[in-house]
Amino acid sequence: MMIFLLFIACSTLFPETTPPIKRHDVAASLTGNFRSGPLGIRFIGPERSVHQATVVPVRFSLRPGFEISGALWTPQSPTGAGVIVAHGHYGQGKSGAEAQEIAHQLAAAGALVLAVDTPGVEEWDVPERRIHFGSGAHNRGVLYSRGSSAMALQLDVLRRGVDVLEQLGAKPIGATGASGGAVASFYLGWLDSRVVTAVMASSPPIPREAAASGCACDHIPGHPGPDATVLSQWSDPTLWMSDVVQVPPEGLSPKAEFEVFEGPHSYTLPMQERALDWFSDHLGTRKMKPLAATANVDLSTPLGESGFMAIADLPAFKAQPWKPQPSLGRVPRVDCQGEGPVMLTLGAVALAPIQAAGWRTCALSMPTSPGTDFDAAIWTESVGNGTVMADELAGAVAFAVRQKKPKVIWAHRAWGLIASTFEHKFVVHEPVEDLSGLRENDPLWLHVPGAWDGVIQAHTAKAVGVGDDPAALLGALGPPKL
Ligand SMILES: [Zn+2]
Repeated sequence: MMIFLLFIACSTLFPETTPPIKRHDVAASLTGNFRSGPLGIRFIGPERSVHQATVVPVRFSLRPGFEISGALWTPQSPTGAGVIVAHGHYGQGKSGAEAQEIAHQLAAAGALVLAVDTPGVEEWDVPERRIHFGSGAHNRGVLYSRGSSAMALQLDVLRRGVDVLEQLGAKPIGATGASGGAVASFYLGWLDSRVVTAVMASSPPIPREAAASGCACDHIPGHPGPDATVLSQWSDPTLWMSDVVQVPPEGLSPKAEFEVFEGPHSYTLPMQERALDWFSDHLGTRKMKPLAATANVDLSTPLGESGFMAIADLPAFKAQPWKPQPSLGRVPRVDCQGEGPVMLTLGAVALAPIQAAGWRTCALSMPTSPGTDFDAAIWTESVGNGTVMADELAGAVAFAVRQKKPKVIWAHRAWGLIASTFEHKFVVHEPVEDLSGLRENDPLWLHVPGAWDGVIQAHTAKAVGVGDDPAALLGALGPPKL
């Protein structure tokens, strides 16, 4: 009894909390190691004169073959300081009002400003480069399967932007952005000591919670929020401007200031005015009232004819290959039909020919079917939590195997990966052989760690039959025997 009471007392005194992140681990996971080779700064033009500054579209290289777009805002009367502007999810990057207005304001105040596009926006809105929202999910999956993340890639892109400002002689350097751009600005300063201050406008919670809505590109796999220790770990002066009335997030460092500017989820004019003040105090830019009218120009430039490196062609680093650990989460539905020995079928399978060949089919389906947005949400949450969704599917199949005792397994495409975790004879219909064969509607959980660097091939190699011809696969399984 005493022990029981003591247990209750202890669990009240020490409520369960997420263990704080280890900065070294997270910093390592955010250092994508994609940066290499010369910066190769190219001024794409045309250079436009705007009030008290000029602006010109630029390109520079993350690594040879992987160009990034940006807009360089050069002040008429420079102060020497530089600012990186990171964009949020406003449909555009460097050309969006949320990036362009503050970039122009800061250039007018004497800062050399580089607004940097993340992969997949403006001219780079092409399948090979998308990382945002649903259309970027497979590229995020590829990065994750290789031990990296969309956030690590974006931060490497921004750090190359800091390299550009440095090469052009800017010092000291600050960062700013609204919404997703605020998240990026914070992590940029948190990671890169060359950035000495940052202004976050309309910032969502940092770190991102595993199941938060919005774009999952600011996930740090395996390190979901809330975690106050993350914020406390950057001790330089920072300004946090909230668009909604709320209390400051837990963990802000003593040099952080938090202010509410109620209004749209954006980089509003009052926020711009406060940011001008802040950077004047912390970077030495000129004190000024914000310009009433800022530039509004299309800063995108054509990609041109020459080829470019896809996200899938970025180097893999430190991927720990998936070791299946089946765990039962959602209970599957299993529908059996026909007479004969049992064949468990996984995924989209034409059952009639299999039954006609003398098998009793037991078709497994999850409460939600693969490929839907809901599955994408489950996958996103599992990535955030550091679990592997394929383990849950392997657990569901294990449940069906115990219940129906199949002789063999028939798997369609991605499900071959799951079938291979069992001792049963199995075949894979229309297998996913490599990244070039990935289809848009293939499930995101296929991107298990190491998927594209040997894991899928090694698992598929265990199949007794692989291919597009169902009759050949039936032959490979042999005649149904009870
Ligand atoms: Zn995004």
